[in-house]
Parts: sequence; C-alpha cells; structure tokens
Amino acid sequence: MSAQYKYLLDESKLPKAWYNINADLPVPPQPVLHPGTLEPVTPDFLGVLFPMSLILQEISPERWIEIPEPVREIYKLWRPTPLLRAVRLEQALDTPAHIYYKYEGVSPVGSHKPNTAVAQAFYNKEAGTQALTTETGAGQWGSALAMACNFFGIDLEVYMVKVSYHQKPYRRIIMENFGAQVFASPTERTNYGRSVLAQDPQSPGSLGIAISEAVEVAATSGGAKKYSLGSVLGHVLMHQTVIGLEALQQMELAGEYPDLIIGCAGGGSNFAGFAYPFLHQNLTAGKTTRIIAVEPASCPSLTRGKYAFDFGDTAAMAPIVKMYTLGHTFVPPGIHAGGLRYHGMSPSVSALVNHGDIEARAVKQLATFEAAVQFSKAEGIIPAPESAHAVRVAIDEALACKQRGEQKVIAFNLSGHGHFDMLAYEAYHHGRLEDFEYPIEAVEEAMTHLPTVSMPA
Ligand SMILES: *Cc1c(COP(=O)(O)O)cnc(C)c1O
Repeated sequence: MSAQYKYLLDESKLPKAWYNINADLPVPPQPVLHPGTLEPVTPDFLGVLFPMSLILQEISPERWIEIPEPVREIYKLWRPTPLLRAVRLEQALDTPAHIYYKYEGVSPVGSHKPNTAVAQAFYNKEAGTQALTTETGAGQWGSALAMACNFFGIDLEVYMVKVSYHQKPYRRIIMENFGAQVFASPTERTNYGRSVLAQDPQSPGSLGIAISEAVEVAATSGGAKKYSLGSVLGHVLMHQTVIGLEALQQMELAGEYPDLIIGCAGGGSNFAGFAYPFLHQNLTAGKTTRIIAVEPASCPSLTRGKYAFDFGDTAAMAPIVKMYTLGHTFVPPGIHAGGLRYHGMSPSVSALVNHGDIEARAVKQLATFEAAVQFSKAEGIIPAPESAHAVRVAIDEALACKQRGEQKVIAFNLSGHGHFDMLAYEAYHHGRLEDFEYPIEAVEEAMTHLPTVSMPA
C-alpha cells in the first residue's frame, strides 16, 4: 500500500494568532533583572533596546496574540511550510514507528528564523525604528533579519561571530545582498570588542560576545538604533509558534497525533515554536505527548548547566534571567552547529524542563552528522547541523520502537537546510570532525562568575 508523503495546508490555513505559553505556564515566570542593580527591570530600561509592543508581548498573559496582517502577507512567501512523513527513512530503519517532520528549510533564507525576524522588523517599523543591530552565529539569524529589514526599509548592523564569519562567507554575502552591514566580532567598533581583543587578539568570538557588541551599539546610540535578538526571549519563541500551530493541523490531516515531539535547542526558539502548541494540548487537553529538547554534548546548558540567574551576554550588560546556564563567561568549543553555541537557554524552556514538562537530551557531534547523512540519503534533504540534533534523537527513538515492537508516532522539527554547511559535511566525510569533550573545568570556573541574586524563594 502506498503511503502519503506530504501534508500541505493552503494559505487560508496560515494561523491568525500566535500561541503565548505565558497563559499556561505551570510555574510563575521569574523576574527579569537589571544587570547593574540586580533589581527587576523597568520597561524604560528595556525600552532602550526594544519597541514597547515587543516588551508588552514579553509579559502578556494573553493566550493568543493576533498576527498583524502585513506579517501574515510576508509569511505567505513560504508558509504554511510542509509536514512530511519520512516514509523512506522509516523503511531504511525498518521501524514500525511513524516519523513526521515539519520542514522550515523552505523559507527564503533556509530556516525558521524569518518567522520572528519579519515580526520584529514589523513592530520596529511601526514604532519608528530606523536602524537595528544584532548578532549572528552561523549567519542564519543575520540573513533572516537582513531580509526582514530590507522588506520594511530598516538599516541593519550585524555582529557576526568571527569563526563563522570566516567559515561561512556565503551567509555574510546573503546579508550584504539584502543591504546589511556585517562585522566580524569581536570588532574594534565597541568598547567591549576592543577589551576582548586586548586580552586575546586571536579570539574566535562567541555568540555572547557578539550580543554584547550589538547591545552596546544600540544602547549607546542615543535612541537612533534598537537591538533585535533571534532567540531566547519570550516574544521570539511566541512568533515561532506558527510552526507548531500549522503542524497540529497537518497531523490532523494525517489522522495521527504525535506520541513524541522533538526539536533541537540553542536558545530554544524553533524547539518552542514547534513544541509549545503540542505542550498546550498536554497542559489543557489531557494529551500526554513526550516532548524532547536536544542540545549538543559540547554545549549542554539544559543537561549539565545550572538553573540559576545569569546574564544573557558575556559582558554582563544584557538583562539577567533565570535559565539553565553554563555561565555567561563560558566560551563553547567551535562545533559546526554554530546556532547551538549559546551559554544559556530561554527562560520558559528552562522553567518547563525544571518543572518536568519537557525532557532534555544531549547528543555528540559525530553521531549527529551520522544521523544527518542517513536522513539525507533516505529523504533527499541535507539538514542544517543544528537540525541534525533533532534527527539524531528521532532516529534513536524510532530504533527503540523497533526493538520494543512499538508503533509510536514521532514528529520532529527540521529547522533548516544545510546548504551553506557543506564544509562541515566534508570534514565529517574525511574524518576531520571530533567529539568535543564537555569542558567541565571551564564550566565550573564560569559558575563562579554568576551574579549573586537574592530572591524570595
Ligand atoms: C539558529 C538555528 C537554530 C538554533 O536556534 P533556536 O533558537 O534554538 O531555534 C536551530 N536550527 C537552525 C536551522 C538555526 O538556524
């Protein structure tokens, strides 16, 4: 019997509202603290960096937030994205499990990131912002925001982690094609960048350092520039929920409901965007889907970090939030899944892992690439190295089903394609990739730099 491969929605099924997990969080949200005073931040402080509409989304208790029509119109360039059944992968694994994946790689820049980039550019335009600053790791966020800023006529400065700037020139050129200015971070353009270079002229940079530079430029611009973050914050995760809201409808078309939801997690945005609408069903409709966030073993904030208040950036200039953290001074090894090299994790994902609503798992680099190659041989799509972390766990779970003779329904988010990561694949094929050991001493050292926060328990 021939199986159905694709579950497609037409444009009329594009969600009209984002899902806001704040309405259903089983634990109260923790305050966001000022990096200098360690007291809860005021909207004024955040207002230097973000338009008020996004700050209000961050703290909104409303379950559904309407997606503005101009944002939906741009979403229609690539949304709704397809949900596919990985029929050929199931056959290759000889598993009774049914494997589905939501494919976000069909967006113009090849990942889920435009889902929030377009929304953030819209709200900034509405607030009169003329220029934005941001950081980018592998370049995916920078290229998404460059596209979005170009659509809304906003200037953009991108601080790109230096190691990626050199490893991934194509993404820099994509950003420049959309009209953005791109700098290899650490740069000489900021006080913080200069201080990092003074200590270590060879610094490869890190996402934390690049965030600090982008924040410094916006915060010292006298209001001329605002700052945009591609992950971690509540409003970013919320904009990504279009992924899961579409997937819910598509699973219904398939006549199945997932037993297992899987996503890779760097700052947590594609994971949450895919998983939260299913978690909503767990929290309010009696569903019992297992939900797994997957991270690299070399940057294991959820599985090896501490649930504590920490700075969002390396320079201790960004707000302090409660999250699983490896310490804001932790510089993760230069693995190829650049988008997963962040020291912390979104506060809501952290709270839900801590409360037991979400599981976390760490996977190693070589096993991750092995899964990615197996997936592409079966399905034809080359996953981004970040997304490959979710593929690894989906395959592991499908093999566990085979061993136990269980016909589970597994759904994962394929957050992007890997077309600009082929040098990483080449390194894998030539045996030049390594499994980085978790640098426990470095993390213990970084833990000594956590801010001392006294909070009522
Ligand atoms: C940026 C990125 C990630 C990691 O970021 P999250 O906020 O955790 O989603 C994962 N996959 C791809 C393809 C990315 O570009």
